[in-house]
Amino acid sequence: MSTLEASAAPVGGPALAQERRLVTAIPGPRSQEILARKASAVARGVAHTVPVAAVAAGGGVVVDADGNSLIDLGSGIAVTSVGNAHPAVVKAVQDQAAQFTHTCFMVSPYEGYIAVAERLNALTPGDFEKRSALFNTGAEAVENAIKIARHFTGRAAVAAFDHAYHGRTTLTMSLTAKAMPYKTGFGPFAPEIYRAPTSYPFRDGLTGPEAAKKAISVLEKQVGGDQLAAVIIEPVQGEGGFIVPADGFLPAIQEWCNAKGIVLIADEVQSGFARTGTMFASEQFGFTPDLVTTAKGIAGGMPLAAVTGRAEIMDSSHAGGLGGTYGGNPVACAAALATMDVYETEDLAGRAAALGALMREKLETVQASDPRIGEVRGLGAMMAIELVDPATKEPDAALAGAVAKAAIAEGVVVLTCGTYGNVLRFLPPLSIGDDLLAEGLDVVASALAGVKA
Ligand code: PMP
Repeated sequence: MSTLEASAAPVGGPALAQERRLVTAIPGPRSQEILARKASAVARGVAHTVPVAAVAAGGGVVVDADGNSLIDLGSGIAVTSVGNAHPAVVKAVQDQAAQFTHTCFMVSPYEGYIAVAERLNALTPGDFEKRSALFNTGAEAVENAIKIARHFTGRAAVAAFDHAYHGRTTLTMSLTAKAMPYKTGFGPFAPEIYRAPTSYPFRDGLTGPEAAKKAISVLEKQVGGDQLAAVIIEPVQGEGGFIVPADGFLPAIQEWCNAKGIVLIADEVQSGFARTGTMFASEQFGFTPDLVTTAKGIAGGMPLAAVTGRAEIMDSSHAGGLGGTYGGNPVACAAALATMDVYETEDLAGRAAALGALMREKLETVQASDPRIGEVRGLGAMMAIELVDPATKEPDAALAGAVAKAAIAEGVVVLTCGTYGNVLRFLPPLSIGDDLLAEGLDVVASALAGVKA
């Protein structure tokens, strides 16, 4: 069979049966057939975590081509926070697609883009006047935030942190800290990028102000604050390991940036949009960046990204200096407006906090009898466990990989992350039910128990 039989697939969205259901081994024969085609048609560098072909998703499940229903603890990497194929998003997409799919905002502007900018200006941290510009991907938002900061300051240098992840384009992989798989063999890298130590309480044992002092000292000595155009930081580091900085770290970095005229960029591509229990993670740290980059959760799965921030910084670029053919596509903007409504009407920030509490309690219970869980950490529904050798605290990437593999085989989508590859992260759609989430974590716990050293 060479084409997908779409008619055989269930319709996605919240009406899908909310259950874990295995009708074949994972992967089943149909998924195997499709993934064999992937191997011969798709570039090897584009890898995948879960060896099944998805045909429908919604609520808290992903259904594969063999009819298996997997519990979703990944949300397509923190994207479908409102739930996959949310009916309001589907309708907005369908209605807009029937009107027009593209004019190019730089050719003939349309209201949807402007409405998204207005919403972002109101929602993001900081009660100063703001502007937004829309793009397609998180990496593109980060690229543009750096461009804007350089143009505004007339400076070249940019600082990023240990364990940072900002994307895979040349500039953003240069900002990213981890060599394998993101950078190795893909150089040369962009110039004028400097790296500072971050706050990683589990490993550095420092208070927030101590960690900030260390980072600032490195940057002052190696670059000079007055040379820096921008400091970019994830308020909760995502790919680097769901690292929550110690209290006081981010405000101290902000104070220094403000004093030195450095544009402070919060990369909230992964932590944004209700995920951490507030609309943006920055809010929980008393942290007010000058610019915020967003993507992922912004539009219910449609590709959209943004840079939002202080009007004087955002407006510094000359006309025509920012943009792109597809940036702020009208269908993606319609999806974003519907998605942002859902965050509010369904109080998904509150839901993320509740799901986070549930996850923390369950994971801490497992940790109490399994010291290989070095730390349970996270914010809201952005939760993780760091797996280590209990005697030495050395990262145990093999264990994380084995547990993820075993959980996937039992029908739970779970992702790893971390500079050392030893973190299991849990990012359920905020539309998941408590029971399904609990079942998913139970499967992970028994997978962990099953991989005894
Ligand atoms: N910044 C952060 C914090 C991210 O987590 C990601 C994606 N994982 C990106 C930027 C890049 O986003 P994209 O994959 O949409 O380019």
